[in-house]
Amino acid sequence: MATPAHPHADPAHDRAGDPSAAHSAAPSGDPFGWLDEQAELRRGAGLVRTLRPRPADSPLLDLASNDYLGLTRHPEVVEGAALAARTWGSGATGSRLVTGTTELHAQLERELAEFCGFEAALVLSSGYAANLAAVTALAPHGTLVVSDAGNHASLIDGCRLARGTTAVAAHNDPEAVRKALDTHRGPALAVTDSVFSVDGDRAPLAELAAVCRRFGAGLILDDAHGLGVLGAGGRGAAQAAGLAGAPDVVATLTLSKSLGSQGGAVLGPAKVIQHLVNTARTFIFDTGLAPAAAGGALAALRLLRREPARAARARAVATALHAGLTGAGLQAVRPDAAVVSVRAPSPDEAVAWAAACRAAGLLVGCFRPPSVPDGISRLRLTARADLTDAEIEDAVRTIVRTAP
Ligand code: PMP
Repeated sequence: MATPAHPHADPAHDRAGDPSAAHSAAPSGDPFGWLDEQAELRRGAGLVRTLRPRPADSPLLDLASNDYLGLTRHPEVVEGAALAARTWGSGATGSRLVTGTTELHAQLERELAEFCGFEAALVLSSGYAANLAAVTALAPHGTLVVSDAGNHASLIDGCRLARGTTAVAAHNDPEAVRKALDTHRGPALAVTDSVFSVDGDRAPLAELAAVCRRFGAGLILDDAHGLGVLGAGGRGAAQAAGLAGAPDVVATLTLSKSLGSQGGAVLGPAKVIQHLVNTARTFIFDTGLAPAAAGGALAALRLLRREPARAARARAVATALHAGLTGAGLQAVRPDAAVVSVRAPSPDEAVAWAAACRAAGLLVGCFRPPSVPDGISRLRLTARADLTDAEIEDAVRTIVRTAP
């Protein structure tokens, strides 16, 4: 069911790192004294996060990164980034509207739009900034935004910053979206991840688009985990659902997963992109994407065009990982894209399981509350297109052997 609550008040949209979380410490002279109390609570709950630098030449088998197509170290991609830095310098030097647009940015925008089948594209400094831009610029006062309960934090923050009001709809439930839209007379949007980042499940995009069209609502889909994996040759979830280039659909992307680089983009009708250039605060007031990141992403995109089989291979690796794990009795969500999510009995056991994998030479992601909205801890595996069959078997063996 949809809940017509403002996201600030909605636990389904309340995630880790919420800076608006209340605290009740009495003034003590130390303005940050209350942080000690919060740190203690985190320690007590076993939920302290730490940063662990990754060695450049790690011997670990990596099933934790989002490098779905194995392109981040590909010589052509690295050379694309290096050549861009040599040509344009190490930084973009200013906002895209001032000095921060190079020919490389314009070329990347043309090729991204063309590849994914949209009229126009706008490149921003991250996928996070792209989501903030799309949702805030398209949801002014009077707009209803219907947001899936499982959406990524960047879409949630877009809802929070937008001047429109937000209704949170139950996860992957077009009927809940229909009911929420039915409560409103006026402009409306539905926003959803195309592939959800924790469980890797896919949104019912065709159904959502049909519901939106009944109410004249726009659809924003975040294709961070679909680009390079779903659709013909990796053209993304919108293309796979027959929605690419539709006048009422906007897609957001990250350049940091399948394209092995850094940055984000919004794709849509030219008038939407023009509106973002003129109004989106995370575009206007942010320094442009570094030339090296644009050059790396452009080289990766061209490589994907030349080698479209990489997309299907990433999906096949995910299917093989899932089959191996469930065949051994583990509980894993059937993958729709390149993310494989494996259930762990508790947060502590998830952490211990990931640590045991690491000790055995395998790097896996570990998700636990409060980053997961439903309180279920998981290992998160990413299927990279460049994994060999032997590496897949090896990874499955390690995960099964170390299972709690
Ligand atoms: N959307 C989704 C679904 C994501 O998983 C991520 C990255 N974790 C982002 C947006 C943000 O993209 P970026 O890392 O480029 O800021």
